[in-house]
Amino acid sequence: MGPTKYIFVTGGVTSSLGKGIVSASLGKLLRARGLSVTIQKFDPYINVDPGTLNPYEHGECYVTEDGAETDLDLGHYERFLNVFTSQANNVTTGRIYHTVITKEREGEYLGKTVQVIPHITDEIKRNFYALGETGVYDIIITEIGGCVGDIESLPFIEAVRQAKLDLGSQSCLVIHLTLVPYLKAAGELKTKPTQHSVKQLLEAGVQPDILVCRTEYSLPLEIRKKIALFCNVQINSVIESKDAETIYDVPIVLRKEKLDERVLEKLNINNYKEPNIDLWKEFLGRLKNPTSEVTIGLVGKYVELPDAYKSINEAFVHAGAQNECKVIVKTIHSEDIKPSNCEEMLGDLDGILIAPGFGERGIPGKIETARYARENDIPFFGICLGMQCAVIEFAMNVVGLKEAASTEVNPNTPDPVIDLMEEQKSITMKGGTMRLGAYKCRIEPGTQIHSIYQKTEISERHRHRYEYNNQYLDLFKEKGMVFSGINPESNLVEIIELENHPWFIGTQFHPELKSTVLNPHPLFVNFVAASLEHKKNKVENRKLINT
Ligand code: GLN
Repeated sequence: MGPTKYIFVTGGVTSSLGKGIVSASLGKLLRARGLSVTIQKFDPYINVDPGTLNPYEHGECYVTEDGAETDLDLGHYERFLNVFTSQANNVTTGRIYHTVITKEREGEYLGKTVQVIPHITDEIKRNFYALGETGVYDIIITEIGGCVGDIESLPFIEAVRQAKLDLGSQSCLVIHLTLVPYLKAAGELKTKPTQHSVKQLLEAGVQPDILVCRTEYSLPLEIRKKIALFCNVQINSVIESKDAETIYDVPIVLRKEKLDERVLEKLNINNYKEPNIDLWKEFLGRLKNPTSEVTIGLVGKYVELPDAYKSINEAFVHAGAQNECKVIVKTIHSEDIKPSNCEEMLGDLDGILIAPGFGERGIPGKIETARYARENDIPFFGICLGMQCAVIEFAMNVVGLKEAASTEVNPNTPDPVIDLMEEQKSITMKGGTMRLGAYKCRIEPGTQIHSIYQKTEISERHRHRYEYNNQYLDLFKEKGMVFSGINPESNLVEIIELENHPWFIGTQFHPELKSTVLNPHPLFVNFVAASLEHKKNKVENRKLINT
């Protein structure tokens, strides 16, 4: 197609308008037309990456194949586009300054005063264009985090202004996402916040080419005209983005509004076929017309914030649609679970998942949960810390190691069944130092996991410091734990399962990170099917008891 073209997506009025979903949806539509597209996110905070942030601060930390700890929007990009992202797809202010300051110390700017303009903005632009220089992409969508007007996003907006100038109008366009609120008392949709937000962009020297307006109600023609006039955009470039039933409707909503057509026109990209979104529509059809329903308990300690477990929730959406089954994910706070209330808290669930996590808070509740699921034959799925808790529970209650623990929680335990990985022992720095990204795993033939993946070698993504302690392998095997997935190079245990249980699987890796709309993850698909089966059996048993 020629040189890479760039689309910048900014946001105004308020945060949480869904820039990530709009960017991913546009990316999906362009890809469905045969263009090669990637999406990158520029975040204005000073952390070098979100890996050091508590999920309460910023939601889930999404890990890429190459082991980058990134913003959760990258998860949306992968789930929508069905392509991998990488370290280069997420850049923060912290990373930009880190590079510039390192260069300054190395003497790269010797004699010069190092300033926001041009040094910081040049470094931002270098990162804007880095993926484009690979020659792989026709279009790169760049989402700018935060809102226009925030002090911290100013250098990014300034860099967008310069990029527009560098690239020219046929190779660069700016889409601004705003809110058109409905004032109930006045019975009206209000355009003023959009006007103000565009004015702020204009003050920074950036004229948006397209406005995407989030709204609860359809925008009448007069409102569109008003926005176009006051914000200096063409009327057909005022795009309505009405609240949708699911985020997966957004590509369809934006397609109806012809967002992709406007983009191609403005970037002067001709002769591109109509987008092929048949498979996406089939997925939506299955998602919206379930023939059954299951309730899965998600046991974790960040349950107050749904974004903390974003990828797990989305993996259940994909797996549910695949099974034509509505998956109700019931979040349960691990600190609320006690030996005395397991029946009441967990008894009605069709399946139980213990979420990943760090630190000791909530661990006893997770261990109790694993016990309850094991003893009551409830389908159980433990991810990372969830697998580790299942191992500790098995050690305590089946193997008989009453004081077994993870050294993350109790460094003095006599039975460290989960222990710090050897390569972690000398590490003191916290940022980016876990075992991160994709590693191979050998699957043992004849195991349950083998029947699920139907492969003997897989690759999945990781984010942890602790591991199963292989000194205990024989003891556990004798009692019925199966080590069905092993890293072929390091011998680390990657997957556990139980012999005498219908579905009890723990993974040291995070399968949720690789589930996409078009490739639902087999483990989630199978877990939902097992939960459905469990539910049916429960109903039949009840019938038998009642007759
Ligand atoms: N805290 C555990 C570890 O570091 C588990 C990490 C996780 O669940 N992602 O090994």
